[in-house]
Amino acid sequence: MNPDDRKALKDRLLNQARAIDSARHAQATPIDRAVSTSEHYPLTETLVTTTDFHSLEGYRRIAMMRTLGDSLGITSPFFRCHQRRAGATSRLGDQDVINFANYDYLGLAGDRRVLDATHQAIEYYGTSVSASRIVAGERPFHGALERELAHCYQSDDALAFVSGHATNVSTIAMLVGTRDLIIHDSLIHNSVVVGASVSGATRMSFPHNDAQALDRLLFDHRDRFERVLVVIEGHYSMDGDTPDLARFVEVKRRHHCWLMVDEAHSLGVLGATGLGLHQHCRVAPGDVDIWMGTLSKSLASCGGYIAGCQALVDTLRYLAPGFLYSVGLAPQLAAPARRALQVLQEEPWRTTRLTQNARRLLDGIQALGLNTGSSEGHAIVPLILGSSARAAKLSHALLAAGINVQPILHPAVPERSARLRFFVSCEHQPDQIDQTLSALERLTNTD
Ligand code: PMP
Repeated sequence: MNPDDRKALKDRLLNQARAIDSARHAQATPIDRAVSTSEHYPLTETLVTTTDFHSLEGYRRIAMMRTLGDSLGITSPFFRCHQRRAGATSRLGDQDVINFANYDYLGLAGDRRVLDATHQAIEYYGTSVSASRIVAGERPFHGALERELAHCYQSDDALAFVSGHATNVSTIAMLVGTRDLIIHDSLIHNSVVVGASVSGATRMSFPHNDAQALDRLLFDHRDRFERVLVVIEGHYSMDGDTPDLARFVEVKRRHHCWLMVDEAHSLGVLGATGLGLHQHCRVAPGDVDIWMGTLSKSLASCGGYIAGCQALVDTLRYLAPGFLYSVGLAPQLAAPARRALQVLQEEPWRTTRLTQNARRLLDGIQALGLNTGSSEGHAIVPLILGSSARAAKLSHALLAAGINVQPILHPAVPERSARLRFFVSCEHQPDQIDQTLSALERLTNTD
């Protein structure tokens, strides 16, 4: 976009934002006059406006984004509807696409064995366990899944929750409180930030993957707090890079902290046989206090888990609100996760092929002279474009060329690091990756 067009677009967006504001204002005033005679409930204009959902800051941002899309002549990249199972390929509307927009890293969401295990579980147990496990009771598949997850981390036990996000929120909120500190990587997932704010603990962050900065922060602040929880991810979902686990273990030991690792994007992805960050870094899994993961990526289901020592898991089992006050995992969620976990371990070629595919895409994009940030090429490859408009336009043009990849726009990332994010699967074929690289070469040259 040339500078004149950019200025015209900016003016148009500002005018539209002002128009939204004055329309709200105009609507609020008569209502205000009509009801402000009430002695008991004197409503000011401000109060009336606060009941109008259009006035929400978040809603205004959405409206601005729609306007930006319209101005650029592109349809929204969000909530694209897949007409069938979305794997390495998918169908959007009536268009077949090569798909880089989901986390089924090992291609198990449509695997025959996983489907059969799911069908059998529903036939036998029905479609819901209807209530919390503590009151309504468990089913054998709950314990079986948890034992097999615990086995992957050589831990005493594990606990499965119905949502990955809720796993982090509930676990963190349960373990720390107002006298404690949570200190996390600056790129940590939203669920950790929400958990920290629910907990009431003090929250700090350290620069991405910088164990030395964490060490310095702990030297300065550790003694003011009772318990300290350090949280990192095994494989960062925006950037595709990994932490040096041994360094983090060393730091947490020196300062007597708990270390929690979120393995959402590392189980099935990292390590010679897909067992995750500890295998990748050759660190004993027992050196990490709290292993967290999701069932929604490599495990082809939905839910989350915590693995660790018995006291930790028992505490969560009896007290974590998102477990205690929420329904148990349904058969059609536990069964595919368990079967996928078995296949993951029986067929390490899936992880190997995933890495080969991601490497092929990463090397190819870099050979085009494009910016892939700090991606290590395990499964997540960002293409950093430096502006939301550029990312949205390129995603749109790629879709027209039969390639589905999501743009990540401001405010999800800072504007200067707006990007496309490719999620690779072990099901992608080399020629699909090459076709994607050719399209990128063509479209970024004409950009
Ligand atoms: N942790 C991380 C690092 C994630 O990326 C996500 C979601 N993608 C979650 C937790 C939440 O998991 P879920 O979507 O399974 O609720």
